[in-house]
Amino acid sequence: MLGIGIDIGGTNTKLVVVNRSGKLLAQERFKTEAALGAASFIKRLGAAVDGLRRDYGRQLVSVGIGAAGDVDPERGVLRFAPNLGWRNVKLTAPLEKLTGLPCAMENDANMAAWGAYEIELKRKYDDVLTLTLGTGIGSGMVIDGKLYHGSSGSAGEAGHMKIIPDGRLCGCGGKGCLEAYCGSRAIMARARELIKNEAAFVKKFAAPDRQRFNTICLTNAAEAGNAAARAVWAETGRCLGMGLASLILVLNPGCVVLTGGVSRARKWFMPALRKALSGQQIKTPFARVQIKISDDADLGSHGAALFGLERALK
Ligand SMILES: [Zn+2]
Repeated sequence: MLGIGIDIGGTNTKLVVVNRSGKLLAQERFKTEAALGAASFIKRLGAAVDGLRRDYGRQLVSVGIGAAGDVDPERGVLRFAPNLGWRNVKLTAPLEKLTGLPCAMENDANMAAWGAYEIELKRKYDDVLTLTLGTGIGSGMVIDGKLYHGSSGSAGEAGHMKIIPDGRLCGCGGKGCLEAYCGSRAIMARARELIKNEAAFVKKFAAPDRQRFNTICLTNAAEAGNAAARAVWAETGRCLGMGLASLILVLNPGCVVLTGGVSRARKWFMPALRKALSGQQIKTPFARVQIKISDDADLGSHGAALFGLERALK
């Protein structure tokens, strides 16, 4: 029995076919090109799914979709996707009609959380919090072995938790959100304040074939001993630690998984993050929690496929 997993991102849409233990059998991707509209996207997605059905036929039993945005998992509607510019797009109904397979949809961070629970942790913990650290910050929770949705399907918007009253402006329009301090765009905005000569910095620390002022360049600089870069990462760790401490106090997870591009700078932000956690007064949840970092870039798509299978076979 196999499941199709679909990860709809701002740039690319990725499709995978996996078995129940998460083994990858096939994958493909196409440009999301959200500006062409949702109807065009659904048509192209349908064609890609059709190709997989031709190859795997009756072995396929389910479809799981992770989409970047606010998802109504009950109705299979992508309510709002700021990165795609779409509102109220029905996705599961047309795919179910096309494939005849049950189709589950969740926010992409929820699918990554399910992937972390199943693939990274092999269900070793019943209560898991996953943070996806990229341009934005997403989160997903598995509680008592089940993905937690909240009352309207919006649970896990940890990136927009306020950590500083009237703090920095966030992409969501609010102020002081965790993402406004620890999302990659915010990290680089802070780096810009401290690093006076950006061009020289990039020339010195970016890879020769990728001359960009980004978190990779900032990590290289920290590695080379650059004080400003190290200060930015320490600040990031402190803010992330403050946000994470609140989440741990509320949820008391057995394990926290950090994933996404920013998590690659672990060496430089984890000491400040751990200090923020160890400085908490209620000790037990922090003594108990394991913190793991996953470099698996496919947690979202594989998690979507496994979640679809879980739903279809339960
Ligand atoms: Zn925000």
